[in-house]
Amino acid sequence: MRFLNRLQTRIFAFFVLLLFAVQLMSFWLTYQSNQQLEDQHVSNQLAVAGLVFESQFNNRNNYLAAFAETAAKDFGLKEIFIDGDSRSFLVALNNHRKRIDASLAIAVSAEGKVIGQLVAKKNDQGKEQVELGSEQGKDFRYQLDSEFQQLSPFYLLDGKLYQIKFSVLTSGGSSVIGWVGFGFIIDDVLANSLRQLTGLDSGFMLNADSKMKDIGHSGSALTLTEQSVLAQFIEKDQRNSDYILWQQSLGDVQGASLHAYMYKSRSDLLAALQSQWLQQIGLLLLMVPFSLLLAFIISGSITRPIKQLIEQAKFIAKGNYDSQVTVDSSVELTQLASEFTVMQQAILKREREIAHQAFHDPLTNLPNLNELERVSATWLMSHSTMAICLINIRRLTDVNVTLGHAVGDDVIKEVARRLCVMSPKALVCRLSGDEFVLAFESCEQHSFEVFLNQLQQQIGQPYQFQDVILSLQFTAGVSFYKQDASLVTLLRHADTALQYAKKNKLDYQIYDANIDKNTLERFQLINELKLAIEQNELVLFYQPKLHLASQKVTHVEALVRWMHPKKGLIPPDTFIPIAEKTMQMNSLTRWVINEAIAQYLRWQQMGIEISIAVNISAENLKDEQFCHWVINVLAKNNVPVSAMTLEITEDAVVSDPEQAVKQLNMLRENGLKLSIDDYGTGYSSLAQLKQLPVDELKIDKSFVLKLMQDESDQIIVRSTLQLAHSLGLTVVAEGIEDKPTLDWLTELKCEMGQGFYLSRPLPAEQFNQWLMASPYQKETSDH
Ligand code: C2E
Ligand code: CA
Ligand code: CA
Repeated sequence: MRFLNRLQTRIFAFFVLLLFAVQLMSFWLTYQSNQQLEDQHVSNQLAVAGLVFESQFNNRNNYLAAFAETAAKDFGLKEIFIDGDSRSFLVALNNHRKRIDASLAIAVSAEGKVIGQLVAKKNDQGKEQVELGSEQGKDFRYQLDSEFQQLSPFYLLDGKLYQIKFSVLTSGGSSVIGWVGFGFIIDDVLANSLRQLTGLDSGFMLNADSKMKDIGHSGSALTLTEQSVLAQFIEKDQRNSDYILWQQSLGDVQGASLHAYMYKSRSDLLAALQSQWLQQIGLLLLMVPFSLLLAFIISGSITRPIKQLIEQAKFIAKGNYDSQVTVDSSVELTQLASEFTVMQQAILKREREIAHQAFHDPLTNLPNLNELERVSATWLMSHSTMAICLINIRRLTDVNVTLGHAVGDDVIKEVARRLCVMSPKALVCRLSGDEFVLAFESCEQHSFEVFLNQLQQQIGQPYQFQDVILSLQFTAGVSFYKQDASLVTLLRHADTALQYAKKNKLDYQIYDANIDKNTLERFQLINELKLAIEQNELVLFYQPKLHLASQKVTHVEALVRWMHPKKGLIPPDTFIPIAEKTMQMNSLTRWVINEAIAQYLRWQQMGIEISIAVNISAENLKDEQFCHWVINVLAKNNVPVSAMTLEITEDAVVSDPEQAVKQLNMLRENGLKLSIDDYGTGYSSLAQLKQLPVDELKIDKSFVLKLMQDESDQIIVRSTLQLAHSLGLTVVAEGIEDKPTLDWLTELKCEMGQGFYLSRPLPAEQFNQWLMASPYQKETSDH
């Protein structure tokens, strides 16, 4: 079946059929035209035969008539005729007969007696014998009158038929003395000679009352079919398709009619044609191998370029895309071949694109983890001292949430660009949202820190988006190759270093084994924190907030610490993030608030009138019961709501604004003071923050620490103060470490100040001592 479906086979079959059809057609046409030619030929032959017969017959008539006339004028013959010497007359008559080789000579006397009748016959040896005819000496069969010689030219004698002409013998004036006539026999010999002339079988037939009598015919005896065919034709003019037939009626012979006929059987004709056909068929058969060969060559030549294309397509399918597809053939196939080349290029391009996508990050077009694995595999094989620097862009989630993902994407692209510019020797990859990797084939540890500082500066360059100016920073974790390290280990180490840097608020950290120990400790802490809260291992330290205009301490900020039985004092930055991640923030904050209330009440007893600020985190605002609990616990302890301020960082609101705003509104409605902590480190604008129900703004310490040295910090702080005041917010500046800063802020009408210059966070006892010793103590009515 497959063979039959092949194009070459089909074309081959088509050409074979076509060639056969053409040959059959030409054969049929030749056959048809031959048939026509033959028919024409036959009818010509018949016409010619008719003419030949007619002229032959008439010639004989005329010849006989002319000779009879000549003989009748012969004096010698006349004399002997008159003499009545019958013997000499017969001799003379015979002499005349011999001159024209007539087969019958008759002389009739004026009295109507046959005085001479000579019949010439040929014996078996072909010798002529002359006999007296049976009518010799008898009465002549016809009435003798002047019309006599016009009578039928036929004479039937002794079963033989003669064609005869008479002439009158006259003596002297015009007295008739008798008649002489000469005749030729109508027999097989005549028929044969006719056949020789015409090429048709010939013969003569007497028809008397539908009875046919054969007079003579060419060739051998007539068959029964021939007899009946001829009889039908002569009598009824009925033709037979197996024969070509001609006949002519010659006249009456004693009541019967004499017919000459000529015919030929069609099978004889076909026999002649057949040899032609055999030639044709022979030619046809001879053409068969030629046709097959020709068809084979043609089909082969048509399908060869297609086969070439198939071969090349198979070659391409094996992944060889760089080949040029060509065929040495027609315009169409050449075009098809060039389309193949185009298609191949398109596949190649797409395959490269797919491969590219598999190994690159679509947003930045930077290599991804797959590519990092691929490239580093070769580095590690050649034992390069490779380094991995894992980079985390800080606060990128905030950018996404506050400014939208489109801006977030732009920021990521810009960071990617800067990373590439700054580290031409590194393979810069993007792993996920805010995580990049700089992979170095070989790297010196001592020069690395210089590089990281430069990189931080470059990334920190302001990035403007519409009217927002963003200043980006990253935290980095670095790991250097150690013996037998794999990429996975290097990445894990870099990540450990990164987490360590984040926790310790460092710009970067280079991995060493000690850090892993810290992370282990971290795990332990997670488990211990729950118990720590329950077993009262936490303590609150207090840091004063100075009312700048009055130079009195009116508030303190409560800052938590963990007095670990073995590890000593643990700073909040270490365990607060853990508490946040392990759902322990609620119990921690409740502990802090309870403790702050208790302290407030203690100070009240001591006559110290001071409000306490407590830090609350995003986790607290997610708890629906939280604000009810705060209000209730204050009421239960008879603590006025004005004695408590809640500090919230803006990202606590950002993660679930709806729920957060609901809670904050309720707290505010119940009279609690709300303060925005770490203002300036997030991306919210002041106008956005004003949507929140807040009273106070705490400018982040990063703008205050070097306020006197940094003019741009001064600009930021000044404008923040102006804007906040115009919005009706009070401002707290934290991180005041020197007097000039304190004075500068006082001058600019900042409401409150907090910082190491005044005091570090202190346990309650120590705080009391500090307060007593300081000039900032608020005079209470009691003292
Ligand atoms: P924060 O709320 O911004 O607290 C102020 C931090 O700045 C305190 O660090 C304080 O010691 C430090 N600080 C104050 N003045 C200066 C200064 O002049 N110079 C410098 N260099 N630092 C100064 P601390 O106590 O380590 O607290 C760190 C953070 O831990 C806090 O930042 C706060 O976010 C969190 N935290 C502390 N206690 C609690 C708490 O009870 N609950 C919650 N949710 N978070 C807390
Ligand atoms: Ca705070
Ligand atoms: Ca703060």
